Amino acid sequence: MKKIIAVDGPAGAGKSTVSKICASRLGYTYIDTGAMYRAVALKVLQSGETLDENLISDIGIKLDETGKIFLDGADVTKEIRTPEVSRGASDVAKFGFVRKKLTELQRDMAKRGKVIMDGRDIGTQVLPNADLKIFLTATVDERARRRFEELKTKNFAADFDQIKKDIALRDKQDSEREIAPLAQASDAILLDSTNLSIEQVVEKILELAR
Ligand code: C5P
Repeated sequence: MKKIIAVDGPAGAGKSTVSKICASRLGYTYIDTGAMYRAVALKVLQSGETLDENLISDIGIKLDETGKIFLDGADVTKEIRTPEVSRGASDVAKFGFVRKKLTELQRDMAKRGKVIMDGRDIGTQVLPNADLKIFLTATVDERARRRFEELKTKNFAADFDQIKKDIALRDKQDSEREIAPLAQASDAILLDSTNLSIEQVVEKILELAR
C-alpha cells in the first residue's frame, strides 16, 4: 500500500472531497493544504496587518482529525470558505516566505506516513518523493457547476458566471506564479473527473494506492 499520496489540481476539481473519502477508507490522515493558505489569508484580512515574515513566523495553524482548522487557537473552519478568503489565499500563496513556512509545516505533518495531502504543489515541491501522485482536473465549466450546486444545496446565494470567473482567475494566478506554481509532476497520474462520479474517482485512486 502506498504510504504517502499527493493529490494536486486546480480549484474545484474535487480534490478535498475524494481525498477525504480515500483517507477514511484507507485509515490515513487527510491534510488539506489549501485550508492552511486560507488561514494565512484570513489572518491578514482579520488583523489588517501587513503580510510579512513577522506575521507568519509564529502563526498557529492546526488541522485536527475531524477536518477542523484552527488559526491561533480559534476554530476558523467556516470562516475560511468565503469567496473573499479564496481570493486572499491565492494572493498570499505567491510569497516565498509564506510557502516556505507552510511547506515546513506540511512536511512535518507527513513525516509519520499514511497521509493523503492535497494542494497545488504537493507532488512537485512539498512531497516530491510521494509514493503516489495524482493530478485531478475537470473542465472549468464542470468545476463551476459543482461549486454552484454545492452553494445552492447550502442555501447560499450563487451566481454561476461569477463562480466561473473566480475559479478561472484563481487557476490563472496559481499556474502563473513564479514560486511553486500549480503544475502536474512528471510522475503524476492525470485523472480527468469531468465525466466521473465521486465514487468512480475514489475507486480509481484506491486502485492506484494498492
Ligand atoms: O485548495 P483551495 O482552493 O482551498 O486553496 C486555496 C488557495 O491556496 C489556492 O487557490 C492556491 O492559491 C493556494 N494553495 C497553494 N498551494 C497549495 C494549496 C493551496 O498555493 N498546496
